[in-house]
Amino acid sequence: MNLIIFGPPGAGKGTQAALIQEKYGLKQLSTGDMLRAEVSSGSDLGQHLKTTMDKGELVSDDTIIEIIAGCIARPDCEKGFILDGFPRTVAQAEALDNMLSHMKRQIDHVLVLEVDEDALVDRILGRAAETGGARSDDNAETLKKRLRVYHNQTAPVLPYYAGRGVMRGIDGMRSIDEVQTEIDALLGNARAA
Ligand code: ADP
Repeated sequence: MNLIIFGPPGAGKGTQAALIQEKYGLKQLSTGDMLRAEVSSGSDLGQHLKTTMDKGELVSDDTIIEIIAGCIARPDCEKGFILDGFPRTVAQAEALDNMLSHMKRQIDHVLVLEVDEDALVDRILGRAAETGGARSDDNAETLKKRLRVYHNQTAPVLPYYAGRGVMRGIDGMRSIDEVQTEIDALLGNARAA
């Protein structure tokens, strides 16, 4: 089973993806975490990525597509994977389709976490305060840009999947446990079917 967890910044994608990984043995592929690991390594590429991420902009499609292509070919993705933070543009969604069709695989579900914009801002600024600003892009100004980028570049990915019958809206305003229960019901039913 291969999943995409989709939603704006602060929707809870990473939290739910980690829970799904644990429960279903699917490999969580978080592009944000991968990019932050590259930044922490202190490499030249990491320096370059940090500049882009701190502005709230997207890193280039080519860079991210190459990273994901490498990941999904690995043995730890054989049982399935959950994409968290990818695809974030229509070009990325098209590239993903290409890779999957070569591998004779497919996306089974796109879980769309729906959260009000005001709540997103509260959550991310709350996270910044709690972690002492651990993520340098979690500040009011960069967040505004990330939300704009989400609406302009990432939300158009939704119509790309809309015709396929794989998209499921999830009410992301509820507690972590309640969201998990809804996802569980959906995936459990899908498994039993
Ligand atoms: P969030 O979803 O809360 O914005 P992420 O950790 O998913 O956080 O992403 C942080 C940053 O990493 C993004 O603002 C962007 O600069 C970069 N990034 C992550 N995934 C992608 C992607 N698929 N394409 C381009 N840039 C990405």
